[in-house]
Amino acid sequence: MESLGWSRSLVTRVAIILLDAGVLAETVVTAVERGRGRPTALLRLVVDGTATIGIDFGFRSVRVLLAGVDHQILAADERMLSDSYGPDEAFAAVDEMLSRRMSEYEVDWPDIVGAGIAISGPIDYARNEPSLDSLQPFWSGDVVQRAAQHLLCPITLGNDTRLACYAEMIWGAGREFSDFLYLKLHSGTGGAYVANGSLLMGANGSAGEVGHMVVEPNGERCRCGGFGCLETLVGVPAVLRRFSSVRGRPVQWSEVVDEIRADDVDAHQIIDETFDVIGRASASLCNVLNPQAIVLGGALSRAVTDAEARVARGIAQHALPSCARTPVLIGTLGRDAAALGAVGAVLMRGIV
Ligand SMILES: [Zn+2]
Repeated sequence: MESLGWSRSLVTRVAIILLDAGVLAETVVTAVERGRGRPTALLRLVVDGTATIGIDFGFRSVRVLLAGVDHQILAADERMLSDSYGPDEAFAAVDEMLSRRMSEYEVDWPDIVGAGIAISGPIDYARNEPSLDSLQPFWSGDVVQRAAQHLLCPITLGNDTRLACYAEMIWGAGREFSDFLYLKLHSGTGGAYVANGSLLMGANGSAGEVGHMVVEPNGERCRCGGFGCLETLVGVPAVLRRFSSVRGRPVQWSEVVDEIRADDVDAHQIIDETFDVIGRASASLCNVLNPQAIVLGGALSRAVTDAEARVARGIAQHALPSCARTPVLIGTLGRDAAALGAVGAVLMRGIV
């Protein structure tokens, strides 16, 4: 209790939720055994035979984790999906991965405490469904109902960037900080902010959508309907478009990653310019939020070996002196961050 900084009432509340969910079990210790005082109960974690599921639906892929109730990953799988995949294709891939892994680990649906689902775009947390203005149109409002046909356990829905930030906060690079900004540099560009040790929600749960700051008023149309959003300049699709244009043919992301590592001149220039924009945007965010640190996640942060140094340079150049030395770190949970955050949302149900 002291190490968590939690009050006695919060500990009790968490314990009751976990007891109800079957994650904790009570062992009554009698007064005789204790020697004196009234009977009390010891709580133990029920690990054997129980598990959680974390699912991260990306732009063209789905990643599935089977994890213990102590959040340790038992198995991680990923499948590529078509460009405009819908729920049928996505859940067929989930079914295939889960059935194999659940059989391998000898867990059945009654043993699953819950499944967390991470999707892009804002979530209506009160209704456990995507907002009507979801940025991922192929997920309609009935994601949880569709998922319930495949996942026979309680289902929690969350925004992928917020869940990734949540996982970094409790298990990853954000553990040391009470105030930090998480920046996801991926197909979508997203953000989430931890203030005083908890994830900032905003008025309706969409705080942190930094990818849709307008940085170029007459820029390209964004999937949100606006023009010139940060994401249209620094998202993975933008990097791919520029690289394809230079090469005069369609280029896959794996090729871009190879060219970056091979120090290709074109790749170098595109990455330099992309990180200049990210650095300037990060400087503005530091001025506004004054975080203790920035934690980077997403494919772009993993493809460029000195991503954190590049963003730190941008902050040093463009931020106010009070936050010009904000440390920049790479998230430690890698590709599992969002799915692991979904596992965390299941385990901490009612607390997040
Ligand atoms: Zn936008």
